[in-house]
Amino acid sequence: MIKAHKIRLHPTSEQANYFVRAVGTARFVFNWALAEWKREYEAGEKPGAPALKKQFNAIRCQRSDLLHKLTTEVAKTSKLVAVEDLHVKGLVQNRCLSRSFSDAALGKLLDLLESKVPRAGGVLVKVGRFYPSSQLCHGCGSRRADLTLDERIYMCANPACSYVGDRDENASLNILQEAFRLVGT
Ligand SMILES: [Zn+2]
Repeated sequence: MIKAHKIRLHPTSEQANYFVRAVGTARFVFNWALAEWKREYEAGEKPGAPALKKQFNAIRCQRSDLLHKLTTEVAKTSKLVAVEDLHVKGLVQNRCLSRSFSDAALGKLLDLLESKVPRAGGVLVKVGRFYPSSQLCHGCGSRRADLTLDERIYMCANPACSYVGDRDENASLNILQEAFRLVGT
């Protein structure tokens, strides 16, 4: 009796990307639905697949709506918008960074900004993906090549500066400074 089949796939890098993405998203939806089912069951409600599907679609629409509102607002109020030209596909391939759902939203956010900012008369500047926005200190420009992903607080190693602040805030200030440099102001 054959109990199992073993199949080996040799996808192209594009196909491999698609698989990782699709599987990650399916896993996200499955885990979300499982948690929601459990919550409803414990609360004495009667969970059902059609209701969960409906609920999930509503969340998806909300997200899309939010992205549209956010990008319209940014395009309307900013003359210069600086973004990091993240290699979204690369992020998906990197397993410890892979969060397919948020990656998809990030890609959509960038697409929307790309179309809306110029239409509103602004300039969208993409800072290169190899620019070390997280490692640099926005205060003194010194670099911490040893910065790890779990350090959420940036601490400058330069004793003369000793800046301490939120990692993402420091990175976004660097991206803005680099964008100003790129457009020459
Ligand atoms: Zn510093």
